Amino acid sequence: MSLNEIRPWRNIYRRESRRIMVGNVPVGGDAPISVQTMTNTATTDVKGTIGQVLRAAEAGADIVRISVPDQDSSRALKEIVRESPVPIVADIHFHYRRGIEAAEAGAACLRINPGNIGSEDRVREVIRAARDHDCSIRIGVNAGSLEKHLLEKYGEPTPDAMVESGLDHIKVLQDNDFHEFKISCKASDVFMAATAYQQLAEATDAPIHLGITEAGGLMSGTIKSAIGLGNLLWMGIGDTIRVSLSADPVEEVKVGYEILKSLGLRHRGVNIISCPSCARQGFDVIKTVEALEKRLEHIKTPMSLSIIGCVVNGPGEALMTDVGFTGGGAGSGMVYLAGKASHKMSNDRMIDHIVEEVEKKAAEIEAASAAQAAE
Ligand code: SF4
Repeated sequence: MSLNEIRPWRNIYRRESRRIMVGNVPVGGDAPISVQTMTNTATTDVKGTIGQVLRAAEAGADIVRISVPDQDSSRALKEIVRESPVPIVADIHFHYRRGIEAAEAGAACLRINPGNIGSEDRVREVIRAARDHDCSIRIGVNAGSLEKHLLEKYGEPTPDAMVESGLDHIKVLQDNDFHEFKISCKASDVFMAATAYQQLAEATDAPIHLGITEAGGLMSGTIKSAIGLGNLLWMGIGDTIRVSLSADPVEEVKVGYEILKSLGLRHRGVNIISCPSCARQGFDVIKTVEALEKRLEHIKTPMSLSIIGCVVNGPGEALMTDVGFTGGGAGSGMVYLAGKASHKMSNDRMIDHIVEEVEKKAAEIEAASAAQAAE
């Protein structure tokens, strides 16, 4: 029985969407919500871009987007696609020819911006290239670059204007019998983005790519994205996400996963539950958690670990985690395994010991799921 069956108040009912493929990654339907990021190297710097793609993939990115601003970038894209372990989305603005080149270069998906891709004829050519090369398309509406006629009609960027832009382009794709598309409706304003996404979710069954654009730096952007994306995901809206931060793409991936983990929508790696610490702490909680976060980065198996400073909340939190440690005073604390008090451990050996216990538990979980898969 799953946790959600035992605790129905944890359930999120996902909006029903069509499923499309971005390379080998399904997006929409009952596919896991995928996590995306975008490189920030010059695409023509093939080595640097591949390095960034590999690091993002290692951190868990399911899909990586790359800008294709000129013909040299289209050429570089071909090499990057060849080396990438994850599907590559080509980000296209202004030049519809870059879209055609990117499809030819092996991009798994083309992101086109309705506000600047040009006439319907040009969009049609991009659609043809996508179809010929087994590429999906993301219609990427952005409040900052809406079509002129919509800005004139609405006076300024509004959720209605964004949704109208998106639906107009859905119609162009559908009129051309192209259905392998997803859609995003991004704005840097959380209210505008959330309202537009809710309207969009009602108006189409296309998979939805969520994002709060230009969200800010690591701290402010994380909070803004957690509020914007978190609320939409909680409503069941969103099939793939990208957290936009003025930071390393790896950070975007980590934040994306943390948002999904908080809502129980996706699990990857160790979910650390730790207390803020106070005068009662039996060991230095903050330093310990910092050290453990680094030492446990290599664990991909979904599991939980509680690191709690004292017995006020320690045993209770440990009940619900795979591995736990609770400070107890006198230089040592209690290790919990599968919710039960197991053995004492001195504070000075605790970090190494917890890493060992987590690695052991991860191996057990992996072995059990491999045995289940073989049945
Ligand atoms: S669990 Fe204990 S150490 Fe941690 S914040 Fe609460 S009272 Fe303080």
